[in-house]
Amino acid sequence: MGRICFRPGRRPIPMPPADLLPGTVPETQAASGLGTDAAPPTLIDSHCHLVFRQFDDDLEKVVDRWRQAGVRALLHACVEPAEIPAIRALADRLPELRYSVGVHPLDTEHWFADTQAVLRQAAQDDPRVIAIGELGLDLFREQNLERQLEVLRPQLDLAVELDLPVIIHCRDAAAPMLEELRTRHQHGHAPRGVMHCWGGTPEEMEAFLELGLYISFSGTVTFPKAEATHACARQVPTDRMLVETDCPFLAPVPRRGKRNEPAYVAAVAERVAELRGLTVHEVGDITTANALRLFGPGLHTV
Ligand SMILES: [Zn+2]
Repeated sequence: MGRICFRPGRRPIPMPPADLLPGTVPETQAASGLGTDAAPPTLIDSHCHLVFRQFDDDLEKVVDRWRQAGVRALLHACVEPAEIPAIRALADRLPELRYSVGVHPLDTEHWFADTQAVLRQAAQDDPRVIAIGELGLDLFREQNLERQLEVLRPQLDLAVELDLPVIIHCRDAAAPMLEELRTRHQHGHAPRGVMHCWGGTPEEMEAFLELGLYISFSGTVTFPKAEATHACARQVPTDRMLVETDCPFLAPVPRRGKRNEPAYVAAVAERVAELRGLTVHEVGDITTANALRLFGPGLHTV
């Protein structure tokens, strides 16, 4: 895994360039070639981050654009507990927003003795918490596998306890992640979930599929050289694929390198559609049904 760069930088990263500020044509429609009269596909952004400072100045316009693009629900990921009040406040304003609670493998310094209890309380306090994560292993940026496992395992336990799916971040760490999940399967203690921002090989994908996991494609599937990801998008079973932005990171072509936002999940769905010989509306319907199956009716579409 990790042959391509799918998390270009940790927070904070620079503000978006001025040319991303709203233009006269809705950007997603412009990118998709859809006329302004065409009904957009139905889409769910299964992984986004909106509480980062990159959205401080223009969140309302970002919301308008995702609604125009057909994004009917969003799942906001959490990288550490200090974010939870801000995410919850955002969910109060946006009926289509649901969220996860968890600690990212590159945020292990935010894991303390009481963190599992903090996450449990947050999940039990608010029915809009529909997943645990993002959690996982990242050996691309860090080599502290033992510490990452110490943070991962209690979160996997919590997901099983609360019967919630997990959002898994896995970069250059397929082998230890598979080992952890397989051991749990043998003991009947593995949660359901999704491999978010998929960037592994088809062989690795098969191994995660065997464990029942879903595969979520992000803007990286639009990158011309991401051949392994293209192969995975062609091969993944129809009932296991999701789409996401992971915004503000990983903007799809043609906005690669700029700030990403939920409306651009349409470009991800378009590329997946092209690779599979489907229409973007078909991919939208399929991935929406899959997200609702995985995350449950708590994922509220508007
Ligand atoms: Zn993320």
